[in-house]
Amino acid sequence: MDKFEQLIHNVMDMSESDQKKAVASYKDSCICQTCASYNECASDANEKLFCVNGKSVDCITVLRGCECPTCPFAQSLDIGVINNTYCLNGGELEQR
Ligand code: SF4
Ligand code: SF4
Repeated sequence: MDKFEQLIHNVMDMSESDQKKAVASYKDSCICQTCASYNECASDANEKLFCVNGKSVDCITVLRGCECPTCPFAQSLDIGVINNTYCLNGGELEQR
């Protein structure tokens, strides 16, 4: 199991309230709002953390760049380089 799979595994083991807290803190460290592909619709819907949550529901539709390779959260888990553009292509596990 790699670092990303371990994190997902750990989150799945948490209580519902701890899961919410963990996801909120990961969302805080997500840098999607600095990306040219990120838009007002996604911001208004608080869509972030696409590497975990999967594709943007219907906000992000055009690729204008991707900051995932430079994201500290991604780098801490050794993801974001081979797979990225999670908002359009689906989450890390989905892309594998
Ligand atoms: S890898 Fe991309 S989607 Fe995941 S937290 Fe970082 S910037 Fe957000
Ligand atoms: S997942 Fe990548 S392409 Fe999509 S908004 Fe985040 S940084 Fe930009």
